[in-house]
Amino acid sequence: MFLTNFSYNTYWAKDPDGVTPKAFVNNYFHETYGDCRLAFLRGVDRLVSKYTDTQAGKLYIDNEQRQVIDWCYIPQRGTKERLLILNSGLHGIEGYVGNAFQCLFMDEVLNSDVLNHVGVLIIHGINPYGFQNGRKTTGNNVDLNRNCLLTQSDFTYKNAGYAELVSMLMPDERVNLKSDSNRFFLFRSMLKIIKESKSVMRQAILQGQYEYEKGFCYGGAGHEPHLKELKILLIDKIRQYPSMLNIDIHTAYGERGKIHLFVNRPSNDKVTEVIGEIFKDRKVDWGDSKGFYEIKGDYVSWVNSLVPETFSIPMLFECGTMNSQTTFGSIKSLQIMILENQGAHYGFVDEHTESTVKKQFREMYYPSSSVWRTLVLSDAQTLLKQTIEGYVNFNPKSVL
Ligand SMILES: [Zn+2]
Repeated sequence: MFLTNFSYNTYWAKDPDGVTPKAFVNNYFHETYGDCRLAFLRGVDRLVSKYTDTQAGKLYIDNEQRQVIDWCYIPQRGTKERLLILNSGLHGIEGYVGNAFQCLFMDEVLNSDVLNHVGVLIIHGINPYGFQNGRKTTGNNVDLNRNCLLTQSDFTYKNAGYAELVSMLMPDERVNLKSDSNRFFLFRSMLKIIKESKSVMRQAILQGQYEYEKGFCYGGAGHEPHLKELKILLIDKIRQYPSMLNIDIHTAYGERGKIHLFVNRPSNDKVTEVIGEIFKDRKVDWGDSKGFYEIKGDYVSWVNSLVPETFSIPMLFECGTMNSQTTFGSIKSLQIMILENQGAHYGFVDEHTESTVKKQFREMYYPSSSVWRTLVLSDAQTLLKQTIEGYVNFNPKSVL
Protein backbone atom coordinates (compact mmCIF):
# COMPACT_ATOMS: atom_id res chain seq x y z
CA MET A 1 0.00 0.00 0.00
CA PHE A 2 2.87 2.34 0.90
CA LEU A 3 4.53 1.56 -2.41
CA THR A 4 1.35 2.32 -4.36
CA ASN A 5 0.98 5.67 -2.69
CA PHE A 6 4.64 6.47 -3.28
CA SER A 7 4.31 5.45 -6.96
CA TYR A 8 1.28 7.71 -7.28
CA ASN A 9 2.87 10.68 -5.55
CA THR A 10 5.90 10.51 -7.85
CA TYR A 11 3.87 9.58 -10.95
CA TRP A 12 3.97 11.51 -14.20
CA ALA A 13 2.79 10.27 -17.60
CA LYS A 14 5.72 9.10 -19.73
CA ASP A 15 6.45 9.78 -23.39
CA PRO A 16 6.41 6.74 -25.66
CA ASP A 17 9.83 5.22 -26.41
CA GLY A 18 11.63 5.48 -29.73
CA VAL A 19 10.56 8.97 -30.80
CA THR A 20 13.31 11.28 -32.04
CA PRO A 21 12.56 14.96 -31.42
CA LYS A 22 12.35 17.04 -34.60
CA ALA A 23 13.93 20.48 -34.79
CA PHE A 24 11.09 22.14 -36.75
CA VAL A 25 8.78 22.00 -33.74
CA ASN A 26 10.95 24.59 -31.96
CA ASN A 27 9.77 27.17 -34.48
CA TYR A 28 6.19 26.69 -33.34
CA PHE A 29 6.33 26.37 -29.55
CA HIS A 30 6.93 29.52 -27.51
CA GLU A 31 7.20 30.13 -23.80
CA THR A 32 5.14 33.30 -23.26
CA TYR A 33 1.78 34.60 -24.39
CA GLY A 34 3.54 37.64 -25.92
CA ASP A 35 5.77 35.45 -28.11
CA CYS A 36 2.81 33.31 -29.21
CA ARG A 37 0.87 36.41 -30.15
CA LEU A 38 3.83 37.84 -32.10
CA ALA A 39 4.20 34.57 -34.01
CA PHE A 40 0.50 34.62 -34.87
CA LEU A 41 0.56 38.25 -35.98
CA ARG A 42 3.65 37.63 -38.12
CA GLY A 43 1.78 34.76 -39.78
CA VAL A 44 -1.18 37.06 -40.39
CA ASP A 45 1.13 39.67 -41.96
CA ARG A 46 2.43 37.05 -44.38
CA LEU A 47 -1.14 36.11 -45.34
CA VAL A 48 -2.05 39.77 -45.86
CA SER A 49 0.84 40.22 -48.28
CA LYS A 50 -0.01 36.99 -50.10
CA TYR A 51 -3.80 37.28 -50.29
CA THR A 52 -4.88 40.89 -50.63
CA ASP A 53 -8.45 40.22 -49.45
CA THR A 54 -7.27 38.93 -46.04
CA GLN A 55 -9.03 40.70 -43.19
CA ALA A 56 -7.39 40.98 -39.78
CA GLY A 57 -8.76 42.45 -36.59
CA LYS A 58 -8.82 42.56 -32.80
CA LEU A 59 -11.59 42.13 -30.27
CA TYR A 60 -11.17 44.05 -27.00
CA ILE A 61 -12.75 42.32 -24.05
CA ASP A 62 -12.16 44.82 -21.25
CA ASN A 63 -12.54 48.60 -21.31
CA GLU A 64 -8.83 49.16 -20.66
CA GLN A 65 -8.11 47.18 -23.85
CA ARG A 66 -5.59 45.00 -22.03
CA GLN A 67 -7.20 41.77 -23.20
CA VAL A 68 -7.19 41.28 -26.93
CA ILE A 69 -8.41 38.44 -29.14
CA ASP A 70 -6.70 38.52 -32.55
CA TRP A 71 -8.33 37.10 -35.64
CA CYS A 72 -7.88 36.87 -39.39
CA TYR A 73 -10.22 35.83 -42.17
CA ILE A 74 -9.66 34.90 -45.79
CA PRO A 75 -12.80 34.40 -47.88
CA GLN A 76 -13.31 31.42 -50.19
CA ARG A 77 -12.74 32.35 -53.84
CA GLY A 78 -15.87 32.33 -56.02
CA THR A 79 -19.08 30.86 -54.60
CA LYS A 80 -18.90 30.52 -50.82
CA GLU A 81 -19.53 26.92 -49.81
CA ARG A 82 -17.47 26.09 -46.74
CA LEU A 83 -16.09 28.06 -43.82
CA LEU A 84 -13.40 26.58 -41.57
CA ILE A 85 -12.96 28.17 -38.14
CA LEU A 86 -9.83 27.35 -36.14
CA ASN A 87 -9.78 28.53 -32.50
CA SER A 88 -7.08 28.59 -29.85
CA GLY A 89 -6.81 29.43 -26.17
CA LEU A 90 -10.44 29.07 -25.11
CA HIS A 91 -8.83 27.54 -22.03
CA GLY A 92 -6.14 30.20 -21.57
CA ILE A 93 -3.02 28.13 -20.89
CA GLU A 94 -3.98 25.60 -23.59
CA GLY A 95 -3.35 28.40 -26.09
CA TYR A 96 0.36 27.55 -26.43
CA VAL A 97 -0.47 24.40 -28.35
CA GLY A 98 -3.42 26.00 -30.15
CA ASN A 99 -1.13 28.80 -31.29
CA ALA A 100 1.39 26.26 -32.65
CA PHE A 101 -1.36 24.48 -34.62
CA GLN A 102 -2.69 27.75 -36.03
CA CYS A 103 0.76 28.95 -37.14
CA LEU A 104 1.51 25.55 -38.67
CA PHE A 105 -1.83 25.70 -40.50
CA MET A 106 -1.00 29.14 -41.92
CA ASP A 107 2.51 28.04 -43.00
CA GLU A 108 1.94 24.55 -44.33
CA VAL A 109 -1.71 23.87 -45.05
CA LEU A 110 -3.32 27.08 -46.23
CA ASN A 111 -2.71 27.83 -49.92
CA SER A 112 -4.60 29.26 -52.86
CA ASP A 113 -5.96 25.85 -53.87
CA VAL A 114 -7.48 25.41 -50.38
CA LEU A 115 -9.03 28.87 -50.69
CA ASN A 116 -10.79 27.81 -53.91
CA HIS A 117 -12.86 25.46 -51.74
CA VAL A 118 -12.82 26.84 -48.20
CA GLY A 119 -12.93 30.23 -46.46
CA VAL A 120 -10.85 30.39 -43.28
CA LEU A 121 -11.38 32.26 -40.01
CA ILE A 122 -8.61 31.86 -37.42
CA ILE A 123 -9.30 33.15 -33.89
CA HIS A 124 -6.29 33.41 -31.59
CA GLY A 125 -6.23 33.34 -27.79
CA ILE A 126 -9.95 33.49 -27.00
CA ASN A 127 -9.18 33.75 -23.28
CA PRO A 128 -6.22 36.17 -23.18
CA TYR A 129 -6.33 36.55 -19.36
CA GLY A 130 -5.88 32.81 -18.81
CA PHE A 131 -3.23 32.62 -21.54
CA GLN A 132 -1.23 35.48 -19.95
CA ASN A 133 -1.63 34.27 -16.37
CA GLY A 134 -1.20 30.53 -16.83
CA ARG A 135 -4.79 29.69 -15.95
CA LYS A 136 -7.56 27.88 -17.83
CA THR A 137 -10.23 30.32 -16.72
CA THR A 138 -11.04 33.96 -17.28
CA GLY A 139 -10.32 36.63 -14.66
CA ASN A 140 -13.72 35.77 -13.16
CA ASN A 141 -12.68 32.12 -12.64
CA VAL A 142 -15.08 31.16 -15.44
CA ASP A 143 -14.39 28.18 -17.67
CA LEU A 144 -15.38 29.52 -21.11
CA ASN A 145 -16.06 26.00 -22.33
CA ARG A 146 -18.83 25.71 -19.71
CA ASN A 147 -20.04 29.32 -20.08
CA CYS A 148 -21.67 29.04 -23.50
CA LEU A 149 -25.17 28.06 -22.38
CA LEU A 150 -27.86 28.92 -24.86
CA THR A 151 -30.28 30.69 -22.48
CA GLN A 152 -29.85 32.71 -19.28
CA SER A 153 -32.14 30.35 -17.36
CA ASP A 154 -29.70 27.48 -18.04
CA PHE A 155 -27.30 29.14 -15.57
CA THR A 156 -29.53 28.00 -12.69
CA TYR A 157 -28.57 24.37 -13.46
CA LYS A 158 -27.57 22.42 -10.35
CA ASN A 159 -24.88 19.76 -10.65
CA ALA A 160 -25.76 17.47 -7.74
CA GLY A 161 -22.76 15.17 -8.29
CA TYR A 162 -20.31 18.09 -8.00
CA ALA A 163 -22.05 19.34 -4.85
CA GLU A 164 -21.53 15.95 -3.21
CA LEU A 165 -17.80 16.08 -3.85
CA VAL A 166 -17.29 19.73 -2.87
CA SER A 167 -15.24 19.04 0.27
CA MET A 168 -12.70 17.16 -1.83
CA LEU A 169 -12.81 19.45 -4.88
CA MET A 170 -12.66 22.83 -3.11
CA PRO A 171 -10.47 22.89 0.03
CA ASP A 172 -10.83 26.39 1.50
CA GLU A 173 -7.30 26.89 2.87
CA ARG A 174 -3.81 27.60 1.61
CA VAL A 175 -2.28 24.81 -0.48
CA ASN A 176 -0.01 22.51 1.52
CA LEU A 177 1.39 19.55 -0.41
CA LYS A 178 2.48 17.92 2.86
CA SER A 179 -1.02 17.84 4.33
CA ASP A 180 -2.56 14.40 4.88
CA SER A 181 -5.31 15.16 2.40
CA ASN A 182 -2.70 15.70 -0.32
CA ARG A 183 -0.29 12.94 0.68
CA PHE A 184 -3.16 10.45 0.69
CA PHE A 185 -5.10 11.95 -2.20
CA LEU A 186 -4.90 8.65 -4.09
CA PHE A 187 -6.74 6.75 -1.33
CA ARG A 188 -9.33 9.46 -0.80
CA SER A 189 -10.10 9.40 -4.53
CA MET A 190 -10.14 5.61 -4.70
CA LEU A 191 -12.69 5.49 -1.88
CA LYS A 192 -14.93 7.91 -3.78
CA ILE A 193 -14.48 5.91 -6.99
CA ILE A 194 -15.48 2.70 -5.20
CA LYS A 195 -18.61 4.48 -3.98
CA GLU A 196 -19.54 6.31 -7.17
CA SER A 197 -17.79 4.59 -10.15
CA LYS A 198 -15.19 6.38 -12.25
CA SER A 199 -17.53 7.37 -15.10
CA VAL A 200 -20.15 8.90 -12.76
CA MET A 201 -17.42 10.87 -10.97
CA ARG A 202 -15.80 12.01 -14.20
CA GLN A 203 -19.12 13.26 -15.53
CA ALA A 204 -20.01 15.05 -12.26
CA ILE A 205 -16.64 16.77 -11.92
CA LEU A 206 -15.97 17.75 -15.53
CA GLN A 207 -19.35 18.48 -17.11
CA GLY A 208 -19.54 21.99 -15.60
CA GLN A 209 -21.16 23.57 -12.52
CA TYR A 210 -22.85 26.92 -11.89
CA GLU A 211 -23.06 27.16 -8.10
CA TYR A 212 -19.50 27.40 -6.80
CA GLU A 213 -17.74 30.45 -8.19
CA LYS A 214 -14.45 29.43 -6.55
CA GLY A 215 -14.64 25.89 -7.91
CA PHE A 216 -13.18 24.64 -11.18
CA CYS A 217 -15.31 23.89 -14.25
CA TYR A 218 -17.35 26.92 -13.07
CA GLY A 219 -19.57 28.07 -15.93
CA GLY A 220 -20.42 31.52 -14.54
CA ALA A 221 -23.70 33.31 -13.88
CA GLY A 222 -24.10 34.68 -17.38
CA HIS A 223 -22.09 34.99 -20.57
CA GLU A 224 -18.58 36.40 -20.19
CA PRO A 225 -17.84 39.56 -22.25
CA HIS A 226 -15.72 37.48 -24.64
CA LEU A 227 -18.86 35.95 -26.12
CA LYS A 228 -20.53 39.28 -26.83
CA GLU A 229 -17.56 40.40 -28.94
CA LEU A 230 -17.08 37.05 -30.64
CA LYS A 231 -20.76 36.75 -31.51
CA ILE A 232 -20.68 39.82 -33.78
CA LEU A 233 -17.59 38.58 -35.65
CA LEU A 234 -18.85 35.01 -35.93
CA ILE A 235 -22.34 35.84 -37.21
CA ASP A 236 -20.90 38.22 -39.79
CA LYS A 237 -18.67 35.48 -41.27
CA ILE A 238 -20.76 32.34 -40.76
CA ARG A 239 -23.91 33.72 -42.39
CA GLN A 240 -22.03 34.07 -45.70
CA TYR A 241 -21.62 30.28 -45.95
CA PRO A 242 -24.03 27.32 -46.25
CA SER A 243 -21.66 25.19 -44.14
CA MET A 244 -19.13 25.71 -41.37
CA LEU A 245 -16.62 23.44 -39.61
CA ASN A 246 -15.58 24.81 -36.22
CA ILE A 247 -12.41 23.35 -34.69
CA ASP A 248 -11.45 24.16 -31.13
CA ILE A 249 -7.95 23.17 -30.00
CA HIS A 250 -7.42 21.88 -26.44
CA THR A 251 -4.83 20.01 -24.39
CA ALA A 252 -4.55 17.59 -21.47
CA TYR A 253 -7.36 15.07 -21.69
CA GLY A 254 -6.53 11.64 -23.10
CA GLU A 255 -3.54 9.50 -24.00
CA ARG A 256 -0.18 11.26 -23.84
CA GLY A 257 1.14 12.45 -27.22
CA LYS A 258 -2.08 11.67 -29.12
CA ILE A 259 -4.61 14.07 -30.62
CA HIS A 260 -8.11 12.93 -29.77
CA LEU A 261 -11.14 14.04 -31.75
CA PHE A 262 -13.51 14.61 -28.88
CA VAL A 263 -16.89 16.34 -29.08
CA ASN A 264 -20.37 16.15 -27.57
CA ARG A 265 -22.54 13.88 -29.73
CA PRO A 266 -24.53 16.25 -32.00
CA SER A 267 -28.32 16.22 -31.62
CA ASN A 268 -28.64 16.17 -35.42
CA ASP A 269 -27.74 12.70 -36.79
CA LYS A 270 -26.81 14.22 -40.13
CA VAL A 271 -24.04 16.23 -38.41
CA THR A 272 -22.73 13.04 -36.77
CA GLU A 273 -22.71 11.35 -40.18
CA VAL A 274 -20.83 14.23 -41.85
CA ILE A 275 -18.22 14.26 -39.03
CA GLY A 276 -17.68 10.55 -39.74
CA GLU A 277 -17.15 11.33 -43.46
CA ILE A 278 -14.81 14.28 -42.95
CA PHE A 279 -12.64 12.55 -40.34
CA LYS A 280 -12.91 9.12 -41.93
CA ASP A 281 -9.27 8.22 -41.15
CA ARG A 282 -9.69 8.95 -37.45
CA LYS A 283 -11.50 7.62 -34.42
CA VAL A 284 -14.00 10.11 -32.99
CA ASP A 285 -14.62 10.02 -29.24
CA TRP A 286 -18.09 11.32 -28.50
CA GLY A 287 -18.83 12.76 -25.07
CA ASP A 288 -20.81 9.63 -24.26
CA SER A 289 -18.01 7.27 -25.41
CA LYS A 290 -16.24 5.17 -22.77
CA GLY A 291 -13.64 7.23 -20.90
CA PHE A 292 -14.99 10.62 -22.10
CA TYR A 293 -17.69 13.02 -20.84
CA GLU A 294 -20.44 15.37 -22.03
CA ILE A 295 -19.87 19.09 -21.50
CA LYS A 296 -22.56 21.65 -20.61
CA GLY A 297 -22.29 25.11 -22.14
CA ASP A 298 -19.53 24.13 -24.58
CA TYR A 299 -18.24 26.73 -27.00
CA VAL A 300 -18.58 24.93 -30.33
CA SER A 301 -22.25 24.09 -29.72
CA TRP A 302 -22.93 27.76 -28.95
CA VAL A 303 -21.10 28.97 -32.07
CA ASN A 304 -23.03 26.45 -34.12
CA SER A 305 -26.32 27.81 -32.81
CA LEU A 306 -25.59 31.39 -33.90
CA VAL A 307 -26.63 31.03 -37.55
CA PRO A 308 -29.23 28.21 -37.75
CA GLU A 309 -29.38 28.43 -41.57
CA THR A 310 -25.73 27.35 -41.82
CA PHE A 311 -25.01 23.61 -41.54
CA SER A 312 -22.54 23.66 -38.66
CA ILE A 313 -20.07 20.93 -37.78
CA PRO A 314 -18.40 21.01 -34.34
CA MET A 315 -15.04 19.40 -33.48
CA LEU A 316 -12.43 19.49 -30.73
CA PHE A 317 -8.79 18.47 -31.12
CA GLU A 318 -7.70 17.40 -27.65
CA CYS A 319 -3.96 16.72 -27.24
CA GLY A 320 -3.50 14.19 -24.45
CA THR A 321 -0.78 14.81 -21.87
CA MET A 322 -1.56 12.88 -18.69
CA ASN A 323 -2.84 9.47 -19.82
CA SER A 324 -6.17 10.30 -18.23
CA GLN A 325 -7.53 6.94 -19.44
CA THR A 326 -5.46 5.34 -16.65
CA THR A 327 -6.41 5.48 -12.96
CA PHE A 328 -3.20 7.24 -11.89
CA GLY A 329 -3.40 9.65 -14.81
CA SER A 330 -7.00 10.65 -14.14
CA ILE A 331 -6.49 11.04 -10.38
CA LYS A 332 -3.27 13.04 -10.86
CA SER A 333 -5.02 15.34 -13.36
CA LEU A 334 -7.84 15.90 -10.89
CA GLN A 335 -5.44 16.64 -8.04
CA ILE A 336 -3.50 19.17 -10.11
CA MET A 337 -6.72 20.93 -11.13
CA ILE A 338 -7.79 21.10 -7.48
CA LEU A 339 -4.41 22.41 -6.25
CA GLU A 340 -4.09 25.11 -8.91
CA ASN A 341 -7.61 26.34 -8.36
CA GLN A 342 -7.23 26.25 -4.58
CA GLY A 343 -3.97 28.23 -4.82
CA ALA A 344 -5.59 30.85 -7.05
CA HIS A 345 -8.23 31.51 -4.37
CA TYR A 346 -6.49 30.84 -1.06
CA GLY A 347 -2.76 31.02 -1.82
CA PHE A 348 0.06 28.62 -0.92
CA VAL A 349 1.89 27.87 2.34
CA ASP A 350 5.21 28.93 0.76
CA GLU A 351 6.86 29.91 -2.53
CA HIS A 352 8.25 26.45 -3.18
CA THR A 353 4.74 24.97 -3.01
CA GLU A 354 3.44 27.68 -5.32
CA SER A 355 6.14 27.11 -7.95
CA THR A 356 5.72 23.31 -7.73
CA VAL A 357 1.96 23.47 -8.28
CA LYS A 358 2.19 26.05 -11.07
CA LYS A 359 4.93 24.07 -12.81
CA GLN A 360 2.86 20.86 -12.69
CA PHE A 361 -0.21 22.72 -13.96
CA ARG A 362 1.76 24.12 -16.89
CA GLU A 363 3.29 20.71 -17.64
CA MET A 364 -0.19 19.22 -17.69
CA TYR A 365 -1.48 21.72 -20.27
CA TYR A 366 1.76 22.51 -22.06
CA PRO A 367 4.37 19.74 -21.72
CA SER A 368 7.98 20.92 -22.08
CA SER A 369 9.07 17.53 -23.46
CA SER A 370 10.44 17.80 -27.00
CA VAL A 371 9.20 14.26 -27.66
CA TRP A 372 5.64 15.24 -26.74
CA ARG A 373 5.84 18.41 -28.82
CA THR A 374 7.20 16.45 -31.80
CA LEU A 375 4.44 13.86 -31.53
CA VAL A 376 1.52 16.30 -31.42
CA LEU A 377 2.82 18.75 -33.99
CA SER A 378 3.76 15.98 -36.45
CA ASP A 379 0.30 14.52 -36.00
CA ALA A 380 -1.24 17.99 -36.40
CA GLN A 381 0.48 18.32 -39.81
CA THR A 382 -1.31 15.18 -40.97
CA LEU A 383 -4.59 15.89 -39.20
CA LEU A 384 -4.96 19.46 -40.48
CA LYS A 385 -4.34 18.31 -44.05
CA GLN A 386 -6.82 15.42 -43.62
CA THR A 387 -9.34 17.89 -42.22
CA ILE A 388 -9.13 20.09 -45.30
CA GLU A 389 -9.31 17.09 -47.66
CA GLY A 390 -12.31 15.67 -45.85
CA TYR A 391 -14.10 18.99 -45.67
CA VAL A 392 -13.48 19.82 -49.36
CA ASN A 393 -15.08 16.47 -50.27
CA PHE A 394 -18.18 17.44 -48.34
CA ASN A 395 -20.88 18.97 -50.51
CA PRO A 396 -23.08 21.38 -48.53
CA LYS A 397 -25.88 20.85 -51.10
CA SER A 398 -26.11 17.22 -49.94
CA VAL A 399 -27.55 18.29 -46.59
CA LEU A 400 -29.98 20.97 -47.79
ZN1 LIG B 1 -9.50 22.65 -22.79
